[in-house]
Amino acid sequence: MSRAGHQREHNIAVIGSGGVGKSCLTAQFVQGVFIESYDPTIEDSYRKQINVDGRHVMLEIMDTAGTEQFTSMRELYMREAQGFLLVFSITSLSSLHELTELREQILHVKNDPHVPIVLVGNKSDLEDDRRVSRSRAFALSQAWGNVPYYETSARRRINVTEAFVDVCRQIIRRDLARGA
Ligand code: GDP
Ligand code: MG
Repeated sequence: MSRAGHQREHNIAVIGSGGVGKSCLTAQFVQGVFIESYDPTIEDSYRKQINVDGRHVMLEIMDTAGTEQFTSMRELYMREAQGFLLVFSITSLSSLHELTELREQILHVKNDPHVPIVLVGNKSDLEDDRRVSRSRAFALSQAWGNVPYYETSARRRINVTEAFVDVCRQIIRRDLARGA
C-alpha cells in the first residue's frame, strides 16, 4: 500500500463471458468512446486517474478475455486485482449464469468472502432484447452478500463511471478499515 503523500493505486479486473461488453465498458470509462467492434482476444490493462470522494486514485483496469478453464493467467489477474466488475449482458441469461463460477473462483483465489465486487448488467439500451429481468439480477447480487448491481450501457455511457467508482470506493473503504 502507498505511503501518505503517495498516490494510491488500485487494480480492478473486468470479467465475464465473451461478448458482454467488457472491452466497450473499459474503453468508455477510460477513453470516453464507444468502439463498435473489438478484437475478442484483446486482453490489456489501462490506467486512469480518478477522484473518489476527494481522493486521487490511480486505477489500473484489466480488460480480460477469459478462456473456459481455470488458467494460470486467470488466477494471476485474480490475484493481482483488488476489486472486480462481474459483467453479463441483460440480453443473455447464460452470461449471468457464467458469473457464478467466476465469482467462486475469485473468492477461492482471494480467500476472502468480502472481496470488493459489483455486478454489472450491460447493454441496458437493448431493452427489447432483454432476457434477464432487473429483479432476477438484483436477487443474485443480494445472494452474493448485497453486492451492488448496476445496469449499464457502454454504448450510451449510462452508469459506466458509477460502476467503476463503486468498486473503487469499496476498495478504499476496506483499506481504511484495515488501517492501510
Ligand atoms: P467483450 O468480449 O466482453 O469484451 O465484449 P465487447 O466489448 O467486445 O462487445 C461485444 C459486442 O457487444 C460488440 O459488438 C459491442 O459493440 C457490443 N456492445 C458492448 N456494449 C454494448 C452496449 O452497452 N450496448 C449495445 N447495444 N452493444 C454493446
Ligand atoms: Mg473484450
